[in-house]
Amino acid sequence: MKNSIKVKLLAAILFLGSTIGVNGQKAFETDTISTPAGNIEITFIGHASLQFKYQDRYYYIDPVMQLADYSLLPKADVILVTHDHGDHLDPVAIEKLSKPETEIFLPQLCFDKLKKGKVCDNGKFFIANGVPVETVAAYNIYNLRGNGKPYHARNEGNGYVLTFGPLRIYVAGDTEITPEMTKLKQIDIAFLPIGLPYTMEPQRAVEAAKILQLKILYPYHFNNSNPDELFRTLLGSPIDVRIRSMK
Ligand code: ZN
Ligand code: ZN
Repeated sequence: MKNSIKVKLLAAILFLGSTIGVNGQKAFETDTISTPAGNIEITFIGHASLQFKYQDRYYYIDPVMQLADYSLLPKADVILVTHDHGDHLDPVAIEKLSKPETEIFLPQLCFDKLKKGKVCDNGKFFIANGVPVETVAAYNIYNLRGNGKPYHARNEGNGYVLTFGPLRIYVAGDTEITPEMTKLKQIDIAFLPIGLPYTMEPQRAVEAAKILQLKILYPYHFNNSNPDELFRTLLGSPIDVRIRSMK
């Protein structure tokens, strides 16, 4: 991105927090981000599940029925799945959100369970209904199961960088800080997981946010970790920590 565009983008970033309920569905928080290319609405469904609305199209990440009745939400133009764990891949939620034109992108292990969609492995680039998307490896390095195997093995899960106009949003998936993550450039906003033992502790997410030189950090996938710690640690830094209902 050219510097002049970047400066304009930063000047134009505007957050309007709101809470919306749909047809009796429980209310979800939404942030609206204004850019020269139009508004991006981020709706926080919970845990690892997100909805982005951009240019009247809906992009969902990791929809699962335990968090929402997806039959009451707008149909998906795009669904991205990070990996095959039950808090990320739910075939029922995907079915409820799908219309004939819905594009689904997912790693091979998810495809093996869902039996549909387009397989995308780490380090790939594709266009998802007009939005450029890069896949980023998501895996554990330090946090291992009792049997010595990682909770998330390399090459089995994806994070995604979505480029909405001039704005680049990184949804990291279940991961720790990886060499692939630290190579990412020009990320404006990131969703970084802070739940132990499956992902990383809050202080590691702070480190990642600094490496990525984020404008905005949304911690997510809290499990039992306390996101307030991030807020305290980054108070006064240029990184805006925004804590939403993503336990
Ligand atoms: Zn997982
Ligand atoms: Zn998870």
